[in-house]
Amino acid sequence: MTKPSLATFTALDLAKDQIADLDQQLLKRKLRVTQSPCDTKAIVAGRPLHAFCSNDYLGLANHPDIGSALAEGISKYGVGSGASHLISGHSLAHESLEKRLAEFQAKHIPEARALFFSTGYLANLAAITGLVRLAPQGGASIYSAKLNHASLIDGIRLASAQTNAMVTLFDHTQLNSLREALQQDKRPLKLIVTDGVFSMDGDLAPVNELVTIAQQYDALLLVDDAHGFGVLGKRGHGILEQDNIFSERIIYIGTLGKAAGVSGAFICAQDAFIEWLIQKGRPYIYSTATPPAIAHALCKSLDIIESEEGSERRQHLYRLIEIWQKEMQFSGWQKVASCTPIQPVILGSNANALQAASLLDDAGYWIPAIRPPTVPIGSSRLRITFSANHSEADLRQLMSTLNHIEQQISAKASS
Ligand SMILES: *Cc1c(COP(=O)(O)O)cnc(C)c1O
Repeated sequence: MTKPSLATFTALDLAKDQIADLDQQLLKRKLRVTQSPCDTKAIVAGRPLHAFCSNDYLGLANHPDIGSALAEGISKYGVGSGASHLISGHSLAHESLEKRLAEFQAKHIPEARALFFSTGYLANLAAITGLVRLAPQGGASIYSAKLNHASLIDGIRLASAQTNAMVTLFDHTQLNSLREALQQDKRPLKLIVTDGVFSMDGDLAPVNELVTIAQQYDALLLVDDAHGFGVLGKRGHGILEQDNIFSERIIYIGTLGKAAGVSGAFICAQDAFIEWLIQKGRPYIYSTATPPAIAHALCKSLDIIESEEGSERRQHLYRLIEIWQKEMQFSGWQKVASCTPIQPVILGSNANALQAASLLDDAGYWIPAIRPPTVPIGSSRLRITFSANHSEADLRQLMSTLNHIEQQISAKASS
């Protein structure tokens, strides 16, 4: 039987043309289906691969104790929350998790209180759009680091559309222009927004300097520590612990689907800011609460992060980073001075990055090519990430494979 041919129409033609354009510019992204738990060995389309691509930095995504806690959470609380937090979805599991998360930042933020979200994307939208509403229409300015994560950028765009907030970009490696802009700013509410660890480069924001600037110009400082929470600091509390920061001006965002190994995110700040976001944070108010069992499992994950086991996992991870930084040598490709488990290799063009990723795949490695708009044009790269579950042998094997592939590509280019 032949299928009847479907009528075409404008929107459908546009969709097909736009996708064909992306494909031609080597910017079409493809989903890959994994058939195994998130870990350093993955099964993808039936093939085993060494994975150096997840954000599961501590190797907790497949931890049996957290799995048992999730099962226990389901037996205690069922599978769904049934409603948003303010209606009837806020359970004892959420409440306990928020208390534990606030304790993690208590030495860094006075009167710390935490608010749990289903994702970091939503937490960022809620924090930024909610905080700018503390000022009257047009009374807020937002200062955003140029390389901030897309969820921060989207939060800022939404906040600006809703309240006429002024938006200024700054370079996090060169803060003088930020100081100058703030000095002339007479608006009542100023919000500086930055990634803690820049997600595609692995370098850290100068949080201490930013705190000083925030104090000097009466601003708030939002730090999105998606890649630092669990990883940085002696006890894994994140970038504020590592940099020994205490400030009443910090709005801290941590995510719980990366190093914490599960899912979700939180905002931690002084009680009054959190209370305000519960009143006015629309993404918080108008979204169903995450299943309480997830919150229950996350409490176990926090226990591990703070424990001896968590500390050993971090030490091992830092050993891998040290080996890579000291010993990895390329002839033309560029490695980045990063002290975190995010270790990009910059190749420049989309074609080079895709070719390298494809040769890595042939060699049994899963490392994605990251292209614009995720990174600036001309800086396409391999984004390599380490997990505490990688062994030193896994790392050294990767390093020699990368050297081999760089030679292969440059031999082809010069032949
Ligand atoms: C991953 C990430 C987010 C989004 O968190 P999700 O929980 O995955 O939605 C936010 N900010 C940064 C810097 C991230 O890397």
